[in-house]
Amino acid sequence: MIEFNEKQELILETAREFNANEAAKFVEAMDHENKLPEALPDRLAQYGLLGMKFPEEYGGGEVDSLAAALAIEELARVSPAISDFVLALHASTGVLLSYGSDALKERLLPPIAEGKLIMAYGLTEPDAGSDLAGIRTTAQKKGDHYVLKGSKTYITLGAASDCAVVLAITNPEAEKRHHGMSLVLAEGYTRGKREDLMGLRGLDVGELSFNNVEVPLENLVGVENEGFIQIMKSLDGGRIEVAALSVGLAQGALDCAVNYAKERKQFGKPIAAFQAIQFMIADMQTRIEAARRLTYYAAMLRDAGKPHSREASEAKLFASEIAMQCASDAVQIHGGYGYSKEYTVERLFRDAKINQIFEGTNQIQRIVIAKNLLG
Ligand SMILES: Cc1cc2nc3c(=O)[nH]c(=O)nc-3n(C[C@H](O)[C@H](O)[C@H](O)COP(=O)(O)OP(=O)(O)OC[C@H]3O[C@@H](n4cnc5c(N)ncnc54)[C@H](O)[C@@H]3O)c2cc1C
Repeated sequence: MIEFNEKQELILETAREFNANEAAKFVEAMDHENKLPEALPDRLAQYGLLGMKFPEEYGGGEVDSLAAALAIEELARVSPAISDFVLALHASTGVLLSYGSDALKERLLPPIAEGKLIMAYGLTEPDAGSDLAGIRTTAQKKGDHYVLKGSKTYITLGAASDCAVVLAITNPEAEKRHHGMSLVLAEGYTRGKREDLMGLRGLDVGELSFNNVEVPLENLVGVENEGFIQIMKSLDGGRIEVAALSVGLAQGALDCAVNYAKERKQFGKPIAAFQAIQFMIADMQTRIEAARRLTYYAAMLRDAGKPHSREASEAKLFASEIAMQCASDAVQIHGGYGYSKEYTVERLFRDAKINQIFEGTNQIQRIVIAKNLLG
């Protein structure tokens, strides 16, 4: 049993309170309308859930990775989409916190914590997903600014974003492509339409287009031409959070399955009395607990400043696989009703799939793990 410290307990309790008091106002609307609710950032901010990882001087709660994972997990138990809203902001603000200038942090982090500014994270392009070194977006230096040209696709919060941290080529002559890329903070770009997605709907996932967008040199995030390396270093934190989201989603599916199994009667008794159902529930519980421990362990290593790349990938890989499995089993336990939009498990089943894909597909996680062992 892991003993949580006061701050970790507090953020977990805060996420529980958000679920109890606020989540229901947004969950169904996000899924049905596929639109980011205007009030959501403000409500999350009111609970201190947007800036939780920021230093106090920027209006944050300065919590560690384990605490953030606990909050992400708890939010996902009720709404994986709301949880992913927080997670996506952690991804973009994470690189800003690690590498951004004080001036950028001072300007951007307080309004993000207050729910007044949305910052996206633009890496993926139409022809470059897993192979990020294949991006084509360029940021060419001209006088006191870069000229940004290209596009990014499938960007969470893209259609709602005020600004975005974007990976672009700054040295096309670099011998190795990934040694010629930088992260820049872009504003004033064109936001594309919302993608109509299978799950995690309502997050305004969309395209960002840069048609000669001027980016002041001071908007460089980190060191010029080291953007790719900076991203690789920061990916581990995102993978731990996707693992946490997956654990929460799986727990939400189990909660639904347990309740339904006790209520639904067939052959004159609750289906919970059938061993076939009991075994499915027992397997779900065991898988969730295993995934949770992998996730917390990776977060604790990160907080201790120890190497955790392999452990973050293991947690992301295992947790997202069991989330898909648990969501599928929860639908099975609901029988035909589980296939209906009237039941939560139908949404969780759709929401589960993306966790095997983003923040590095599960094939990429296996590559990371194998490389760690085999060199
Ligand atoms: C809902 C959603 C939100 C997203 N949010 C963001 C965001 O905010 N910011 C952002 O930058 N991106 C975002 N993405 C993009 C996401 O990160 C990519 O979709 C993901 O990295 C995979 O890239 P791809 O879709 O191009 O697939 P591809 O890279 O084309 O992969 C296709 C298939 O080939 C496999 N594959 C590829 N290379 C290898 C290999 N070397 N070995 C074995 N198998 C391989 C993959 O595992 C996959 O199964 C989001 C995507 C979605 C759907």
